[in-house]
Amino acid sequence: MKPKKITLNTPHDEPANSTKKNDTLTINQDNEETGDAHIGSSVETPIRLDAFELSDEEKIIRIEGYFRSIMEVLGLDLTDDSLTGTPQRVATMFVKEIFSGLNPANKPRPTLFENKYNYNEMVVEKSITFFSNCEHHFVPIYGKAHVAYFSTGTIIGLSKINRIVQYYAKRPQVQERLTIQIGKEIQSVLNTPDVGIIIDATHLCVSSRGVNDTNSQTGTAYFSGKFKDERIKTEFLNYINANTK
Ligand SMILES: [Zn+2]
Repeated sequence: MKPKKITLNTPHDEPANSTKKNDTLTINQDNEETGDAHIGSSVETPIRLDAFELSDEEKIIRIEGYFRSIMEVLGLDLTDDSLTGTPQRVATMFVKEIFSGLNPANKPRPTLFENKYNYNEMVVEKSITFFSNCEHHFVPIYGKAHVAYFSTGTIIGLSKINRIVQYYAKRPQVQERLTIQIGKEIQSVLNTPDVGIIIDATHLCVSSRGVNDTNSQTGTAYFSGKFKDERIKTEFLNYINANTK
């Protein structure tokens, strides 16, 4: 019996000695490796100078069109009742929800209070659930962020710490950058050098594809000022690990 011909990557039969280059079928291996290594390039989210020239509504209309094209290229029938509204739903979700943290207009403006009690101990807001998306694969990263600081005279509403975490999570991200961006923002908002952040997260690009590892979690940390001290770090970790439920 004639062996079944393997046509992967060569949908158009060509003689083996063909010199015709088929660019559209080349998968760039470097891109694959950079993505799986999850190497970020900078602390700032790489964003274009013209990022906000289009309004949210204009962005939604454009993304809707592009996403419709992606679905059509995949071969999906957009006239099906179940699929017909998907491009519009995805576009709105990108701009208004999961990537809304790209727009500085959506940055939380936290209310600050004077630290009237002269509370000098560590403040810890632990287990803040967040959902983000990996900038290399555009699939979810989700996990818990733990935020701690020492006040230098101002304190912040605890829900506002949560909002700062959500704001930076709602961008295409790498976990290291997310951790540093949250740390620097808490430092700046509270005008304190003493901030500790620990993030534990699951990356769907690792669990649902690629190496398909459903057990691994990724931990990252940001320690500034007093949090570089081992005793303070340990105190923070003890808070996180304490079973307070
Ligand atoms: Zn990824």
